[in-house]
Amino acid sequence: MLDIITYPNPILRKKNKLVTDPTSPEIKQLVSNMLETLRSQDGLGLAAPQIGKNLCLCIVEVDNEVFVLINPEIKKLYGDFVTMEEGCFSFPGKFLPITRPRNIKLMAIDEAGRKYTMHAKGLLARAIQHEIDHLNGILLVDRVGQQPTIIK
Ligand code: ZN
Repeated sequence: MLDIITYPNPILRKKNKLVTDPTSPEIKQLVSNMLETLRSQDGLGLAAPQIGKNLCLCIVEVDNEVFVLINPEIKKLYGDFVTMEEGCFSFPGKFLPITRPRNIKLMAIDEAGRKYTMHAKGLLARAIQHEIDHLNGILLVDRVGQQPTIIK
């Protein structure tokens, strides 16, 4: 289990580096530790900067399905806007209303080093948007009251 970094630690705002070797033992171990940490708490996802690693890597688990997103790139953000209370391990006990588009299309690399395209909607799309925000140094408090981003 890894310690989670909380706001306003500057690590959460630092630039995250692309993962150069997604199948390395270090990344494999990191993913496994992150998954263990995520599962020890009540949440949907965890991004590497939240455990002190400034790398473009995050994991999401929704409906017992785990997604490993290495170097994710959002290709589309679309659909109607949905506002929901969102929490974050880096803001313990805080829940804030965040408006996001319902659908996402992205490309990422999985833990086996395979590049994949993914379409998601609803809660899964929201969780992915939240974690990718972390990889860009964007936090819950930045999104409150903000117009959602659309990518067509
Ligand atoms: Zn978060």
